Amino acid sequence: MKKTVLITGGSRGIGLAIAYELAKAGCNLAINGRRPKEEIMDVIEELSNRGSEIIYCQGDVSSSEDRARIIDSTLKTFGRLNVLVNNAGVGPEKRSDLLETSEESFGRVMDINLKGPFFLTQKVAQHMIAHSFENFGSRDCIINISSISATVASINRGEYCLSKAGLSMMTKLFASRLGEYNIPVYEVRPGIIETDMTAEVLEKYQKLTEEGLNIQTRLGKPEDVGISVAALVDGKFPYSTGQVVMVDGGLTIPRL
Ligand code: NAP
Repeated sequence: MKKTVLITGGSRGIGLAIAYELAKAGCNLAINGRRPKEEIMDVIEELSNRGSEIIYCQGDVSSSEDRARIIDSTLKTFGRLNVLVNNAGVGPEKRSDLLETSEESFGRVMDINLKGPFFLTQKVAQHMIAHSFENFGSRDCIINISSISATVASINRGEYCLSKAGLSMMTKLFASRLGEYNIPVYEVRPGIIETDMTAEVLEKYQKLTEEGLNIQTRLGKPEDVGISVAALVDGKFPYSTGQVVMVDGGLTIPRL
């Protein structure tokens, strides 16, 4: 039977690359994003062409009503949810020094990057537990897309770093709670990946990469993350719950 995967923020960037890999692997996909469906028809069409049954669940992961609606429409269509990929995330609208970070920006980033994934995971975990008797062959898992910012301090976007550090602990918490149901929870931690999120600072990161920031001498591509997530979904790490999969080209290895 095909696995059903819900990918938040699956309409572009890293989430879309994950969707492409999972479509290739024959999964049913529920793709979430904020934009109206009409704006991402090309994406839906391309994913469908790859043989995937796909629905688009428009909604804001920071809203409780939207989260409930996203899960409801996924279950209504597919009847079952095997994998949740908490990928949707944002940086601050304006990067500002730690001494000037506003409460509004702090709240917005935390709500989308941490509160949303936490409560979405809670709901999905309840569904998975209710169906755990049929989790033959360990088909279910939860994957959180964090960031090297979970451990690397950027003082001009502290709220983003805090949200990702929180997501990292969230992985360990849910891994601990769901172990008895044979539901692994993983954290995938990308480095600098070329997407809309990094477009504004790409030149700076490109230069730093040329100067040796990453051990692998290039910036990351969304598909680098997509391939790693597909391996997790395919059950290639069955005894590694709570672990971090680094996809950072060696950026975070301390060097002398
Ligand atoms: P991106 O290109 O900016 O895409 C963001 C995606 O998230 C879009 O699909 C967007 O939907 C969706 N989204 C944003 N806010 C949302 C909300 N409130 N509710 C539902 N969906 C929402 O970002 P990306 O670079 O692919 O990043 C994806 C994840 O990887 C994020 O969690 C990010 O923190 C993490 N990450 C990125 C990098 C990097 O270098 N790019 C590095 C480490 C970690 P719409 O298309 O509708 O706007």
